[in-house]
Amino acid sequence: MKSSAQYQTGQRLPLEGGHALRLSVNPRARRISIRIDTRKGEAVAIAPSERRLADAVAFARTKSAWIAERLAARPGGTAIEPGAVIPYRGVTVPLEAAGGAGAARLVEGREGLRIVSGGEGEAFARRVVNLLKRAAREALQTRTDFHLRALGQSPVTLTINDPASRWGSCSPVSRSIRYSWRVIMAPPEVLDYLAAHEVAHLVHADHSPAYWSVVKGLVGDHRPFRAWLRDHGAALHAVGR
Ligand SMILES: [Zn+2]
Repeated sequence: MKSSAQYQTGQRLPLEGGHALRLSVNPRARRISIRIDTRKGEAVAIAPSERRLADAVAFARTKSAWIAERLAARPGGTAIEPGAVIPYRGVTVPLEAAGGAGAARLVEGREGLRIVSGGEGEAFARRVVNLLKRAAREALQTRTDFHLRALGQSPVTLTINDPASRWGSCSPVSRSIRYSWRVIMAPPEVLDYLAAHEVAHLVHADHSPAYWSVVKGLVGDHRPFRAWLRDHGAALHAVGR
């Protein structure tokens, strides 16, 4: 069916200041709203229906100064290259070229940890990411198993991937949990919270008060960890992108 609406979901319009405004229909939205997509570097106008998109666009135009400010403040993607510094388990770790084609490894020196790797350009970045993925899998497996035991739950299938902005997901039916490898860059207690968050979904698939009390039983006050992810998440998702 051809839509008679002036605007359509997925459409992009230029805003004052050169930024893009992406239009999005979300039938569950109660009203029009604007959000900042830090990963794509654009603003998103959300409306409950295509008919209401015109109102969302008009609203976004009144907010263009605020949008420009928010997009300017977003963390730029840190390149994974020799000389760069990336977060790892809550500390910053410099990246160093080793020459040759060897795999990336963690080296503990007098000045702390650093990551040394062979490969050039893309190959260097790939080796570093592989190291981080291995570290993420190991840490997440350990903390997932810990929380599973605490809740008397049987093992799950664990997958490490790289979604655009999510940290994890849990399917209680297939008993599988997926995590973003990027959480290995966060402090260990935040990684632990993420594991508890997904494991608790085996008990409650929603985010109800009953669900949050299970999380609380596993990690105590979860609010600081959630705040950490809210404040630093975009920066971690931008590393190497
Ligand atoms: Zn959840």
